[in-house]
Amino acid sequence: MLSGNQKNYIKIMPRVKKILLINPFIIETNSYNYETVISGGQFAESPLGLGYISSYLQSKINDVEIEIFDANLMAMKHFISKGKVDMSAAWGLLKDKIEEVSPDIIGVSSLFHSTSHIVHQTCTLIKKISPDIITVIGGSYPTISYSDALKDNNIDYAIIGEGEICFMDLILFLNKEKGVENLHGIAYRDDKNIIFKENKFLIKNLDELPFPDRTNISPDDYIMPNDFSEYGNLSRNFLFRVLGRNNAKIGIMTASRGCPYSCSFCSAKHIWGRSIRYRNSKNVVDEIELLIKEYGVNAIVFNDDNFTVSTKKAVAIMDEIIKRGLNIRWGVGGGLGVNFLDEEIIKKMYDSGIAIFNLAFESGSQKTLKEIGKVLNLEISKNVVRRIRKLGKGYIIGFFISGFHFETKKEVEETLEFARSLDLDWALIRNYQAIPGSRIFEECLQKGYIVADSIRYGYPLVTSNVDWPNFSKEYILEKNYLANLEVNFINSRNLNSDRVDQAIRDFKGVIELAPDHAIAYYVLGKAYEIKGDLLKVKDNWHKAQDILKTSETSRSYFKHFKIDINKELNLLEGGAL
Ligand code: SF4
Repeated sequence: MLSGNQKNYIKIMPRVKKILLINPFIIETNSYNYETVISGGQFAESPLGLGYISSYLQSKINDVEIEIFDANLMAMKHFISKGKVDMSAAWGLLKDKIEEVSPDIIGVSSLFHSTSHIVHQTCTLIKKISPDIITVIGGSYPTISYSDALKDNNIDYAIIGEGEICFMDLILFLNKEKGVENLHGIAYRDDKNIIFKENKFLIKNLDELPFPDRTNISPDDYIMPNDFSEYGNLSRNFLFRVLGRNNAKIGIMTASRGCPYSCSFCSAKHIWGRSIRYRNSKNVVDEIELLIKEYGVNAIVFNDDNFTVSTKKAVAIMDEIIKRGLNIRWGVGGGLGVNFLDEEIIKKMYDSGIAIFNLAFESGSQKTLKEIGKVLNLEISKNVVRRIRKLGKGYIIGFFISGFHFETKKEVEETLEFARSLDLDWALIRNYQAIPGSRIFEECLQKGYIVADSIRYGYPLVTSNVDWPNFSKEYILEKNYLANLEVNFINSRNLNSDRVDQAIRDFKGVIELAPDHAIAYYVLGKAYEIKGDLLKVKDNWHKAQDILKTSETSRSYFKHFKIDINKELNLLEGGAL
């Protein structure tokens, strides 16, 4: 007996032969300036999730062709080759690609709510090309907001959570090899209703997964085609800034799925569930070796939610890297759990090649940490930074979120003061964004704090989707931005140390992303002053001066930090320096 949904497809689905997996644009309009795009301000990063779906389906289903297409990467390469941003050309190229492949099914990755409107536009394009192509979306957006997503008739199926098994079962269902009762981890429309089927079968043993298919999304594909960017490459990962663009070829991978914690601002549990599953260390390091041998990778980014949540597992991976004598540098894409970083593990991290320490402090207020469910003590955090400094020369990035809706100015000040007090190479102080699917988002929604049109369509990361009850938007955005300028530029630890070359790489990296950053030009000049290169000092200060002529905001920052660039330039050019 066939279900209504299966009946719908019997006429048009003899058997699934071709699947196209698309990583959609994250660039959406022509308003981005070209310099920002080419320097990685709009970044491209290998869509590893699609790689896993592809290799899993290929290992389980016979006679099916699968192709991954990173539309975002294609767009950036196109802009670079043409010397301008042209989104209508990019959409045209995506259309050409879909027509050329002419697949039966298209899977569209939909990781973030903030870019969900582009996913809808992509599915609209697909259905215009051929209403017979079945559209499937997967990722955080459909997992959390499947009923919203399926209001759009251009989307046929929404995968809920981990995608490999659900996608396979969907294909077997469409091939009429499995009944509707076998579908799980999926939502779809059936006549009038939206049917939701919970994701019950997470992959228990991750070692059974084949390594991700990296055809079309290999580390080579993400290398800038020309010498446009010294530090940005096509990824924004800090490893490029630390190792230098020409010294880093990065492979992205994951060693685990999930996180056992439940920080109230985080939505990670929706995709991987509450428990954590690990790959065996040998399996992880086999993949590292493959990346080295096949792609010449010399640096690895682990994109796990929480790489060090089990120190035993993390140490086993590091031991295996050391045992095999692999000469790689590594870092993580998210944050390292600060609590776990004792002396022994930090030593092991250094011995196995760690280059950057992403430390997820989140807050400098013990009260806020308790409120968000983050098990972390401020004294422990300070000691961890001291230990990392004592044992090696790793680059330390601190992650902070400032301006939770329940915070007062006191807690905000405590966080910013904490960021100033730690001996960090870089502080990423983010404005609080309520992420759909997090406990805090629900609370903000109920209390009416969420900015209405951001619920579905996302919001730019430089601002926030929350209206604060305790202070104005202007207050928190300015506070956080000034603290960023102070910690990372004006009082940069590397500027006034023997690591001035690192400071130069940092400031240049920022200028590549934000070519109108007058403060970055000013401190870059300061760095060259320390190195005694007066021509470069003058050059950078003149650039800062030019920006100040037209930017009132930049002038206000110079005033805030009591910098008189005209006076400093006069002194320099008068030979007094
Ligand atoms: S923020 Fe990090 S530690 Fe907290 S739940 Fe999310 S992944 Fe886990």
